[in-house]
Amino acid sequence: MATFRKRALDEAASHQPCRFYADERPVSEYFGQNVLDFEKMRGYMSQDAFEAVQACVLQGAKLDRSVADEIAEGMKEWAIEMGATHYTHLFQPLTDSTAEKHESFVCVEKGEVFEKFKGTALVQQEPDASSFPNGGLRNTFEARGYSAWDPSSPVFIMDGTLCIPSVFVSYTGDALDTKVPHLKSLSVLSEAATAVARLFNEDVKSVKVNLGIEQEYFLVDEALYNARPDLMLSGRTVIGHTSAKDQQLEDHYFGAIPSRVSCFMKDFETEAYKLGIMLQTRHNEVAPNQFECAPVYCDATKAIDQNMMLMIIMQKVAQKHHLKVIFHEKPFDGVNGSGKHCNWSVVTDNGIKLLSTGETEMEQLRFLSFYAAVLKAVHKHHYLLMASVASLSNSYRLGGGEAPPAVMSVFSGSTLYGYFKSIMEVGNAEMTARSLETINIVNSLPEIFQDNTDRNRTSPFAFTGNRFEFRAVGSSQNVASAAYVLNTIVAESLNEFKDEVDALEASGKDRSSAVLTTIRNFVTAAKDIMFEGNGYSREWQDEAKARGLRAIENVTEAYEVYHEQQTLDLFAKMGVLAPNEVEARFEVLNETYVKKLQIEARIIGDMCLNHVIPAAVKYQNVLIENVKGLKEIFGEEYMQYCSSEIETLKKISTYINNISADVEALVEARKKANRIESISVRAKAYSRDVKDMMDKVRVSADNLEMLIDDQLWPLPKYRELLFF
Ligand code: ADP
Ligand code: MG
Repeated sequence: MATFRKRALDEAASHQPCRFYADERPVSEYFGQNVLDFEKMRGYMSQDAFEAVQACVLQGAKLDRSVADEIAEGMKEWAIEMGATHYTHLFQPLTDSTAEKHESFVCVEKGEVFEKFKGTALVQQEPDASSFPNGGLRNTFEARGYSAWDPSSPVFIMDGTLCIPSVFVSYTGDALDTKVPHLKSLSVLSEAATAVARLFNEDVKSVKVNLGIEQEYFLVDEALYNARPDLMLSGRTVIGHTSAKDQQLEDHYFGAIPSRVSCFMKDFETEAYKLGIMLQTRHNEVAPNQFECAPVYCDATKAIDQNMMLMIIMQKVAQKHHLKVIFHEKPFDGVNGSGKHCNWSVVTDNGIKLLSTGETEMEQLRFLSFYAAVLKAVHKHHYLLMASVASLSNSYRLGGGEAPPAVMSVFSGSTLYGYFKSIMEVGNAEMTARSLETINIVNSLPEIFQDNTDRNRTSPFAFTGNRFEFRAVGSSQNVASAAYVLNTIVAESLNEFKDEVDALEASGKDRSSAVLTTIRNFVTAAKDIMFEGNGYSREWQDEAKARGLRAIENVTEAYEVYHEQQTLDLFAKMGVLAPNEVEARFEVLNETYVKKLQIEARIIGDMCLNHVIPAAVKYQNVLIENVKGLKEIFGEEYMQYCSSEIETLKKISTYINNISADVEALVEARKKANRIESISVRAKAYSRDVKDMMDKVRVSADNLEMLIDDQLWPLPKYRELLFF
């Protein structure tokens, strides 16, 4: 067998299940031990300093610099006790990953060596981070980016470093990360939602978003991974014939977790628990070697930070197990891709779950108000919301007939949907008279729960009992990008809801009929976004188009939504992103798209020319020798005995020629696209021409894989990557 592949398979076969991070104690005894939460903080600083942090976190108060030193001192003391030697601001640049730059606590002054951590270093740092994507927000001569402590997320220790969750902004204060707009969106949503919640409960003071982020991923043996340049460099296989058996028997989904994987899961869970990440579920997913884990939902900022940390921990722990975690949305053709279902709900400071149906009529009205506001928001900005998860890697997954379609719709379940249909039919006058009986869905509550067990999994945005589940988010993405769009559009919609209720009340309506009329108007305006059927079906695509819903057919076209007036107005009006910040994101998204596709295109060219064709030529020679031998033995009659070899030879030669020509054309397509000045126009050229050529190359390469002697094939095959 080709030595490269053989060595990888042998090495993979030697990897055994084993625990590396086992902790025999009950989880409750070490949960959160590496996090400095409020409780612990109290013991490391004065009451004044502690209260300052608390006010900062709970009321969003500004931190007085005079207490920053004391807080930093307390953090340092705790960190050193925990064995830390360094600290770092941890921020989330526009790359879907995190960034860190470690600084040592130790310093020397006047010959004396000691540990130091000043308030200024806690509050603000200036990493020389000029290479992060910034979409033109920083020109190089003043390429300063600042990271600033975000006290709403607790500091923690990882690998002996005190990690300080931070935001990342430019010299001029523009957001260079996903966290700044997310924090802003939380605050505008809180304000808008509080105003609506107060229509029903005077004592509501604020509203927060809860997120439960499910994480899907693939596991591949490290040795096999290292033998696949495409997986290593782009996170997905750019060539590879599907395996005869993959997920068709549905024998992997929810099956017994293999012991090596189970050891890995227990290990990363232990590490996650220490960081206060409350992981709850683990199971096999649909595709072979695909798995999922989910934490218990919590406050949105924490949920996102923890998801980012979880991805890092999983990757680190996997190393010990000689495994690689693949977070790419579609690493393997022909089997399911991975998502990061984002469960979203809103709750008041006094514990009212605003997306849970209540028992009294007022509680139901409240529930319906929030529901209707979400519906209208998602309808109005359906394209923007879908575009918020658009990326090269997610585009290989969405609309694939196994993942949510690339057009937005909301699934409500038959009870709610039936209810909305009925109120849309009620006339205005009746609305007042019949208001209270119309909303009587208390009796149908059990039915709502039934809907949940039989959830419509084909919907990109489904109501699941007490929350919405946004399923189109990709497994490798930072959820913040989708979350801040969702928060912002719902905030806008809630503001409009409140205005409409106020106007109706001013015109003499009582509260409940004003609210009910507004609900009816909102639901009516949003009716086209509601869809209860099969989102994977062809009919839905046509129907969605007929309804005027815009599907994402091309990622780079979708990014144009950031140039639409409605988008710019939304972000500016809500104070979440200024037009120049939106433009920067547009640039970065296009740039990232081009770079990633460029890498994939180079890899496929390289793999075909340096791995596939040489293997094909070797096999061609074997066949040629064979035919020559047969001719020697059988003379003129040889054709009778080697027609199949000749046929194979012809096919191989054709594919080799096709690959050579197509790779050349691919290189040309790239060169041509690279000459285009405008990044967004270049991205569009890449998305058409480069992608098309890659598809063509792949067909020939995959056909060769089926023709060539298995012993000669140099790359681990799908069956090995997926079943090892
Ligand atoms: P499934 O795969 O069936 O959708 P999981 O148990 O894998 O369910 O994930 C559901 C996620 O939704 C969990 O993270 C859970 O904590 C979260 N969740 C449950 N209720 C809420 C809620 N009210 N708000 C936000 N997230 C929630
Ligand atoms: Mg799940």
